[in-house]
Amino acid sequence: MQTATTCDFIDEGEIQSVLAKAQDGDKSHVRQVLAKARQLEGLSETDVASLLAIDDADLREQLYAAAQYVKQEIYGSRLVLFAPLYISNLCRNECVYCAFRVGNRQVKRRALNQEQIAAETRILLAQGHKRLLLVAGESYPPEGFDYVLHAIDSIYAARHNGANIRRVNVNVAPLNVEQFAQLKARKIGTYQIFQETYHRPTYAKVHVSGQKRDYDWRIMAPHRAMEAGIDDVGIGVLLGLHDWRFETLAMMRHIAALERDRGVGPHTVSVPRMEPAVGSELAARPAHPASDEQFKMLVAILRLAVPYTGIIMSTRENAAMRRATFALGVSQISAGSRTNPGGYSELGSECDESQFQLGDHRSLDEVVADVASLGYVPSFCTGCYRMGRTGRDFMDLAKPGLIKHHCGPNALSSFQEYLNDYATPPTRQLGQALIDRIMASSEPSEGKISSRLVGRVRCGERDVFV
Ligand code: SAM
Ligand code: SF4
Repeated sequence: MQTATTCDFIDEGEIQSVLAKAQDGDKSHVRQVLAKARQLEGLSETDVASLLAIDDADLREQLYAAAQYVKQEIYGSRLVLFAPLYISNLCRNECVYCAFRVGNRQVKRRALNQEQIAAETRILLAQGHKRLLLVAGESYPPEGFDYVLHAIDSIYAARHNGANIRRVNVNVAPLNVEQFAQLKARKIGTYQIFQETYHRPTYAKVHVSGQKRDYDWRIMAPHRAMEAGIDDVGIGVLLGLHDWRFETLAMMRHIAALERDRGVGPHTVSVPRMEPAVGSELAARPAHPASDEQFKMLVAILRLAVPYTGIIMSTRENAAMRRATFALGVSQISAGSRTNPGGYSELGSECDESQFQLGDHRSLDEVVADVASLGYVPSFCTGCYRMGRTGRDFMDLAKPGLIKHHCGPNALSSFQEYLNDYATPPTRQLGQALIDRIMASSEPSEGKISSRLVGRVRCGERDVFV
């Protein structure tokens, strides 16, 4: 496998022309695309462009209905939960939208030491989390990149009443292949990196100084991660920097390039909308904000275009938007988040050190209760990754019918574990009733596996999965 160094798949002129042609699309063509999407095999670039051009309330409702259908067929009612763990806000880059940018004097700088990282992890364990996303700015204490490697060790080693974190995903600056191999050896789950914007002139404008100015080094990071053997990578765009339609098509090209060059696309995509950040004028007034309706369209279109790729929704969005997008295709959400290093232990003051403002301030238990009351199963499952079902193996398995025999039952057993060990009494009652209802209505083979796994957890076993 060759290290790819420059990006050959984002041609701005071509993307603009595909978008412009789709403007003339007729309604019957859009309906054909939606019918094709219901076959769960994804969509071409021109199909996606015609959905992006929808400007009609009735067609938009049909788009949402198709996305709900695909989401239900593939993911059922599961929603995976995780929490971010910010270990450091040191950074040498000047990304104008981010509070951690090097020139921002309004943010107090802090890199947690390993004991503080373990302490933060124990707090998240005590809440019931099993999956963490490690996040850091692009500058490390004197030990350099080893700091991140030690942090992963500290998180995995932390214990609370015998419980431990079962999957650490990582969102740090682009690495070289050797460093990615070190991350892989630390047994990370997903390596996640957002291109922020695929539009080169905008990219150059908002990344004023530092290593992050190098567009190609960043966009090829998922390729390098896969070359180093990390099967699950996550990509994304920061909405607000450039036109959302352009970014969506460009992201489709990034996905296609990974499939072409590495045999499998990304495990997840993220679509963070820019939030206000201390010391950033741009973050307060994004140049190209995506409206709520456009944001919902984007989630729905992604669900149809790449049906087997997870879509992540963070607590940047408020509770109402998060609820609306669960049905349209979101498969993973963060909960109870803090975006300042030491935020869970309440070291320092949040507003001085946070990366951006949150839209959803509820605790994990409140989010779990809300998700369950909507009929979704909050899942803490880490089974696939620990059974080696990653990368292409995961994609092959993630076909309706096959995944059902793993993910559905595993979601229920991990939820049962949460209810027994961490939930408040009202949440436990609500969740218990949901699990019973879902097991009773599952198809017989799936129901049998679920009741075996859930039964074992109810009898006191932990970390039960197939
Ligand atoms: N420093 C690394 C980097 O930039 O890739 C990784 C961590 S960075 C803290 C994680 C992500 O936060 C960035 O990729 C960016 O998309 C997002 N972010 C930065 N400023 C934001 C803002 N004002 N609102 C929402 N998300 C923001
Ligand atoms: Fe640093 Fe990442 Fe923030 Fe840019 S987005 S300033 S690289 S932490």
